[in-house]
Amino acid sequence: MKKEKVYKPSKVQVKRSRAGLGLYAVNAIPKKQFIIEYKGPILNEAQVQAKGGKYLFEISRNKTIDGTSRKNVARYINHSCKPNAEVDIKKGRVLISAIKNIAAGEEIGYDYGKEYYDDFIKPYGCKCHAEKHLYLPRPKKKAVKKKVTKKRAKTKTAR
Ligand SMILES: [Zn+2]
Repeated sequence: MKKEKVYKPSKVQVKRSRAGLGLYAVNAIPKKQFIIEYKGPILNEAQVQAKGGKYLFEISRNKTIDGTSRKNVARYINHSCKPNAEVDIKKGRVLISAIKNIAAGEEIGYDYGKEYYDDFIKPYGCKCHAEKHLYLPRPKKKAVKKKVTKKRAKTKTAR
């Protein structure tokens, strides 16, 4: 068997984010630097249909990576409408690299694509940091109604 190329991952950390958990840069990651590989067992089309779920990464028509395992740290990267990373499929491997200089402590995000967005993100609304979200018309600004708490005004009780 041919030896697979080894990519040195950037130092990252799983932390709480607006969209549940997210993946954050520990140190600054310069533009174009490799961040992490999306890893997992390979499923064929039938297995994909049987399994479903949102951690399936399709590489080709009959080859999908099942990234469900928590060992696959890349699965914690959230979708971003203003991404600082991108996915590159090289020889059947899913490599995630920086497309911008990422500051230490910054959350890493890439654009998941419209299909995923429509299936998994749209129903709940995108929680990324972008001011303008992709794939969606900008939501109309609803007049924010101040929640009126029915707290009774402390009236001085007249005696
Ligand atoms: Zn968004």
